[in-house]
Amino acid sequence: MQCTLPMMKKKFITLSITTNTSTMLLPIITYPNKLLKTVSSEVAMFDTQLHTFLDNMYETMISSNGIGLAAIQVAMPIRALILCIPDEEGNQELSNVLEIINPVIENTIGKMTYQEGCLSVPGFYEDIERYETLTLRYHNRHGIECTLQADDLLSIAIQHEMDHLDGKLFIDRLSYSRRKKFEKEYKKVLKEKK
Ligand SMILES: [Zn+2]
Repeated sequence: MQCTLPMMKKKFITLSITTNTSTMLLPIITYPNKLLKTVSSEVAMFDTQLHTFLDNMYETMISSNGIGLAAIQVAMPIRALILCIPDEEGNQELSNVLEIINPVIENTIGKMTYQEGCLSVPGFYEDIERYETLTLRYHNRHGIECTLQADDLLSIAIQHEMDHLDGKLFIDRLSYSRRKKFEKEYKKVLKEKK
């Protein structure tokens, strides 16, 4: 079985996601936690345990004001990520949520630069170059193979979250000098938090 999504910019397909009162917030791990370097494993079981985990990821992402979250950011090393790009009014509708499991990029077009941030590197934003448009193959929560074409922010968010699945953070894409600068500033912030 296959579902194909049309080219997307601001419009997204509606996924039926059941949220219930038993969902819970998961602690988000932050840099320099070494777990973030884990290469996550493919998901083989699309069972209720996975569905509950995805529901918890959604609650965690929304309560942290994030637009995307990879499973490893809540210390679960599986190739799963969720995204919810805000609409023009800045609302993150449940109907805009994408749950992406075992993703593979099939095709890319163009490049663009966007200022990225990450829930695992709080307080830092850096310009990163990514593919502008991509075609993605992935499984949904039921194990059904899907494809989608994404551009702009959705394309960037997909690439950012897929980096997490390979143990990479957006700061790993910085030039040597920008990375050095980041390390210095981040150390200062960590010290102030203590
Ligand atoms: Zn991130």
